[in-house]
Amino acid sequence: MLDDVRIHAGPIKQIVHAIIRSRRLVVFTGAGFYLQNGTVLTFRDSTGQWNCLGNKDYSSAEAFAANPAKVWRWYNEQKKNIEQMQPTPSHFSLVELENLMDHFWLITQTMDGLHHKAGSRNVVELHGNIWQTRCTRCDYAMNTENQTLDDDPRCPKCDSLLRPGVIWCGEPLPEEQFTLALEALNRCDLMINIGVNTEVQPASSLIWQAKSAGAVLAEISSKPSAVTAICDIQMRRFPGTVVPLIIEALKDTIQTASPKI
Ligand SMILES: [Zn+2]
Repeated sequence: MLDDVRIHAGPIKQIVHAIIRSRRLVVFTGAGFYLQNGTVLTFRDSTGQWNCLGNKDYSSAEAFAANPAKVWRWYNEQKKNIEQMQPTPSHFSLVELENLMDHFWLITQTMDGLHHKAGSRNVVELHGNIWQTRCTRCDYAMNTENQTLDDDPRCPKCDSLLRPGVIWCGEPLPEEQFTLALEALNRCDLMINIGVNTEVQPASSLIWQAKSAGAVLAEISSKPSAVTAICDIQMRRFPGTVVPLIIEALKDTIQTASPKI
């Protein structure tokens, strides 16, 4: 059936029809999710390029070990910036999509908490969340949303140094979040990848996992990625512009198909 749709419809219609046929949907978002015109809003390094999970001078265990105060000052600055950010129309569109589906998972590489702020509920944050803070020694963790920490924050349980709760380059993903993601990918029948950075593992592996489990794959990205070749539906558009259009088209299609009262 997908082949029939592909012949007769543009990418927006293809994705809309795939969503309508889906019973278990995974949406996977990354930094490119924000792209409206080529501008990335957060975590740019000095050259304006994305690098691994943030800025390589600050987002690594090595940088933290060398100068934790410098890393904390940078993260506190990022938190101040992100605190001012509001969810985009694309974030709210995914909330609408979740409300339309019986089974929906939102897996994300983003760490700014904006999916939660928009109202998304079933969110798997693969790389953690900038508002989380945890101990470098014990299992203490806390939510520090809207709190400013100094550049030498200490654990209230063991007095060791606290660190940002995000995942840094080369670190394993949080086991619980990774397990939740795998369960979703093994169950879903459609996976829509939106602005995912496939250079950061295990993004590509997760997408391959969904493919192996039989899901239809769709990709919305301003440029081809490492998994473009295995995607059934490909859309070369800035996600920040096109995602709201897709959800509007989806709602129109559902409304048109519904029997009139
Ligand atoms: Zn501790």
